[in-house]
Amino acid sequence: MGTSRNNLSKTTQSLNAGRAPHKYGGIVNPPLYRASTITFPSVAALMEAEKHWDKQHFYGRYGTEPTFAFEQAVAALEGGYRSVAVSCGVAALTTAILAFVKPTDHILVSDGVYGPTRLFCEQFLKPYGVDVTYYEPTISERSLTDLMQGNTKVLYLESPSSLTFEMQDVQGLCRVAKAKGITTIMDNTWGTPIGCASFAHGVDVSIHAATKYIMGHSDGLLGLISCNEASYKPVRQMGKILGHSASADDVYMAARGLRTLPVRLAQHQASALTIVERLLARPEVAQVWYPAHSSHPQHALWRRDFTHACGLFSFVLDERYNQAQAHRFVDALTLFGIGFSWGGYESLVLPVNLQGLRHHPTAIKGQVIRLHVGLEDGDDLWDDMVQAFKEIA
Ligand SMILES: *Cc1c(COP(=O)(O)O)cnc(C)c1O
Repeated sequence: MGTSRNNLSKTTQSLNAGRAPHKYGGIVNPPLYRASTITFPSVAALMEAEKHWDKQHFYGRYGTEPTFAFEQAVAALEGGYRSVAVSCGVAALTTAILAFVKPTDHILVSDGVYGPTRLFCEQFLKPYGVDVTYYEPTISERSLTDLMQGNTKVLYLESPSSLTFEMQDVQGLCRVAKAKGITTIMDNTWGTPIGCASFAHGVDVSIHAATKYIMGHSDGLLGLISCNEASYKPVRQMGKILGHSASADDVYMAARGLRTLPVRLAQHQASALTIVERLLARPEVAQVWYPAHSSHPQHALWRRDFTHACGLFSFVLDERYNQAQAHRFVDALTLFGIGFSWGGYESLVLPVNLQGLRHHPTAIKGQVIRLHVGLEDGDDLWDDMVQAFKEIA
């Protein structure tokens, strides 16, 4: 089970990735090792272990066997070489960026990035001396090329965008970056390792907030930096320099969540599609931004690059509804928790405020609401939404 054949489906691979029951007396899930100190039978053994610190037991901060197995498995699922587990998604993306930019370098960042990514660019990268340019998520290859400078080292993508869900032409943008020797990093949290095979589209480094769908139960934090062969060493080394580590317990839970990821995603997607269709038919709704639905402006890119979608999307209320009414709608929902960090089994809702989160102006008129459609019965969720619409009628 340690080896995954390429002809197996993602579902089967997700079930078996990183498991080796015969290594652990037949135990189905790799056991949980809690360790800081690792001791060695001799100085020679210690010196030998140090050479393989990222693959074998050397010091607890660098991980233990189940962590190494999980890092390899999850990278293989996405078509990468190896991943690096860190404490959370933000640690993953900051480590990945710092592995490839230094003061006086330039980075191109999608204007649709996750809020804390922008915070890192504004409050760390800029004072550190890195030049940051935000480009429009739907930019063409030609316009992106115009933004490239001699000192551009990283192209940072996130597809779909956080909150507004524009799809990026990942293949095209990575192609022009590659031609200039620029490293491409993509936040693939929405896509997941099984929903978007980012490495096949030209991505060098893929970020996952495993906190979300991989963990899947809203009870742990974990970040993964999946790398192709060329990017692995600099990323691993930067994680070491910054002192990042992943808790053995959280890796255990993420590995357990991975087993049910394909069936959970299929259910999230099916319920989301039903709710999207019904929202599109409501007079209160102006737009729905769900990349896996044919109404999405870049639906063709989703079809080309993704094999799964999930339960996360936003919709826009008709202009006649003000912010107070949007908040009243959100408050009236009983089956949707009001909060952050989607990807668990339960439904969530959030009023979206894009203030300070976009460099380029957006043409959005109405109030935006983000939904995470969970694993509850889809009709129950819809009934709840219908009664909340009545509240603002
Ligand atoms: C949640 C999220 C992160 C950060 O993950 P944490 O584990 O909460 O640090 C990064 N990127 C995206 C797109 C996210 O949604």
